[in-house]
Amino acid sequence: MYTDEKGCSWYKGSLHNHTTRSDGNFTPAEAADVYADKGFDFLVLADHLYQSSDNESDRLLTISGIEIHTSTGVREGHFHIVGVGMDKEIDVSNCRSNPQDAIDEIIRCGGAAILAHPAWSLNSPAMIINLENICAMEVYTTLSAKPYGVRPDSSMISDLVSAQGRLIPLVAVDDAHLYEGEQGVSYIWLKTDVLDKQHILSALKRGDFYASQGPRFSYEISHDKKSIKVRCTDAREVVFFSDALGSDRVFGKEKGDTPSINEAEYFFVSGESYVRFEITDFEGRKAWSSPISLSDI
Ligand SMILES: [Zn+2]
Ligand SMILES: [Zn+2]
Repeated sequence: MYTDEKGCSWYKGSLHNHTTRSDGNFTPAEAADVYADKGFDFLVLADHLYQSSDNESDRLLTISGIEIHTSTGVREGHFHIVGVGMDKEIDVSNCRSNPQDAIDEIIRCGGAAILAHPAWSLNSPAMIINLENICAMEVYTTLSAKPYGVRPDSSMISDLVSAQGRLIPLVAVDDAHLYEGEQGVSYIWLKTDVLDKQHILSALKRGDFYASQGPRFSYEISHDKKSIKVRCTDAREVVFFSDALGSDRVFGKEKGDTPSINEAEYFFVSGESYVRFEITDFEGRKAWSSPISLSDI
C-alpha cells in the first residue's frame, strides 16, 4: 500500500493466478504465502473452471476468482475470461460456447469480468470490441513472456481497440502457474479508502486502478485541457500513445531529457480521441495507464 500526494490509498493486488486446484504448482495456501511475502494487499486465485472462495488466507485478503475458457477455437475466437469477486457459484457448464456468455455469468454471480491475455489467445480487436461489460483487459501477462510464452504484451491490441472508439481499462497480472519466478512481477495498484471485497469490486468497476511492475504514477489534465502531465517514480522513459498518427511522444535520455524522469507533459493533437502512456524504470519494469478518453474533456 502507498499513499499518494492527495492522501489517497493505493493497494497492491494480483488478479489472476492458479493453484493445484487446476494446473498450478502451488497449493492455495502456498500461493497466498508467496504473495503475502511480496507485500501484496489482496490476491485472486482464478483457477481454470474452479471458483475460489473469499477469505482463504489469514496472511492477506483473498477474494473469489475463476478463469473460464471458451470451448471455441482460435479462428472463431478462443477467449479466457477471469471473474473476480463473485457472491454466487458460477455454473461453468453453460457459459463456454462464447465469451459473452462467460462474462454474463460472472456478472450474474456478482463478479467483475476481465479479458485475459488477448495477445496470447490471438483475440482480434474486432471480436474484443463486441464484448460487453468487461471491466478491464490484461495489457501484460507475466506467464505469457519468455521462457514460458512469447506474447505477454497486449498493448497493441489495446491501441487497435481504442482507435475504434472502445476504451477498455488495463490491468497487469502474473497468471502464475509454475511459481518459478513469474509470481509477483505484474500487478495492479488499486485506489480505495477501505480494503475489502466490495470496495475492490467498486474500484474495478470505476476504473480506479493501473497496471504496474514497479513504477508508480499520477496524472492530470491541464486546466486549459491542452495537455496531460504525468508525475512518476524515477523513470528511464515515458512514452505516450494515441490515435493521432505521428504524434507519439517519447521522453527519455535518448531524446536529450535528463537521465531520470519524474515528470512528462504531452500536448494533445487535434483529432485524437484517446491517449495512454507507458513508463519504464531503470530495471526495465513498466507501468501502464489505461486509455484516457479525450472526447469528454
Ligand atoms: Zn488463460
Ligand atoms: Zn490463467
